[in-house]
Amino acid sequence: LQINATTHIYPIYIQAGIRHSLSDYIAKDYDKILVITDENVATLYLADIRCSLHHEQVYTITLPPGEHVKQLQTFYDIHTKALQFGLTRQSLIIALGGGVIGDLAGFVAATYMRGIDYIQMPTTILAHDSSVGGKVAINHEYGKNLIGQFYSPQAVIYDMETLQTLPLKEVRSGYAELLKEALIAEPTLYNSILSIKINNIVVEQLKMHVRNGIMIKANLVEKDEKEANERKYLNFGHTLGHALETTLGYGTLAHGEAVAIGILFAMFVSEKKLSAQLPTKDMYRWLLDNDYPIHLQELSSTSLVKQMKLDKKVVSNHVQMVLLQAIGEPILQKMDEAELEGLLEQFFK
Ligand code: ADP
Ligand code: ZN
Repeated sequence: LQINATTHIYPIYIQAGIRHSLSDYIAKDYDKILVITDENVATLYLADIRCSLHHEQVYTITLPPGEHVKQLQTFYDIHTKALQFGLTRQSLIIALGGGVIGDLAGFVAATYMRGIDYIQMPTTILAHDSSVGGKVAINHEYGKNLIGQFYSPQAVIYDMETLQTLPLKEVRSGYAELLKEALIAEPTLYNSILSIKINNIVVEQLKMHVRNGIMIKANLVEKDEKEANERKYLNFGHTLGHALETTLGYGTLAHGEAVAIGILFAMFVSEKKLSAQLPTKDMYRWLLDNDYPIHLQELSSTSLVKQMKLDKKVVSNHVQMVLLQAIGEPILQKMDEAELEGLLEQFFK
């Protein structure tokens, strides 16, 4: 699989155990390599990675786990360390971890000395989405991913063996993102996901779902890298999802858990506004059966709407939502504040 980005074409390698032969997949000679990861991933996989790089000058930065590191101070601290390590424009950064590490390390790569090469090595299901497509960013206190860039990696190297150690909450979170892709593009993937129990997945099924998700993502990114049209569909479930994450505080809900609620809301709005016939009830059941935290305490619709309007996707004071006419048929819909607030109130009842 490969992606045709505007700046260059890059490969996506998906292979069990690929972390043991990394040097075969790094196309250029780099003077230094900096691996950026978090504590959990470091404990499990950093030794494998260091060993298979077959390189004399490998540096590592290990951050605490969690969304909180995706901020300006950490970004600056990594730059400081990279300068102290003596990284040059001929150096490589490897982002080893979930979406948090990918976004942050990618943004460091995009800005260090005006941009150096980097490789995405996703280790979560969720990161199948964020590692493909070249979006890199950190958060601002006003909202998620507000400071960032489009900056494509040299490669995405995905070792699905690493998914075996994921905590259940992270599996849940990742599957919400897979559901998103399924709902906007592929009814068969949707049916397949709804037929499984998350705490009891067969590895082969997981691989198939993730590969499918990546293909949907890659396809939309190639059509519309800078998110002028089709790529916007990938924000399905994210308008409310992002607002929930920011309002509740990062870490309360995993990203995908927030997106799962956002997906339900987008389906609910699609039914109300477009009279779409959607399997919202089945989806709700499935989320409950799989222990998604979808019962939220009283949230103020007004503050959620305010938060939604801070989203990057706001067009002329309207919130732009992705809705479904049917599974696999997304459309963009402008919603005004009052309407959105009314729908949110109905939804949370
Ligand atoms: P995402 O945004 O993709 O969910 P994060 O970077 O927030 O990813 O990671 C989620 C959590 O899962 C973090 O605590 C991280 O340390 C942990 N984690 C990431 N990959 C693995 C793995 N392969 N096995 C176990 N834990 C992991
Ligand atoms: Zn997402």
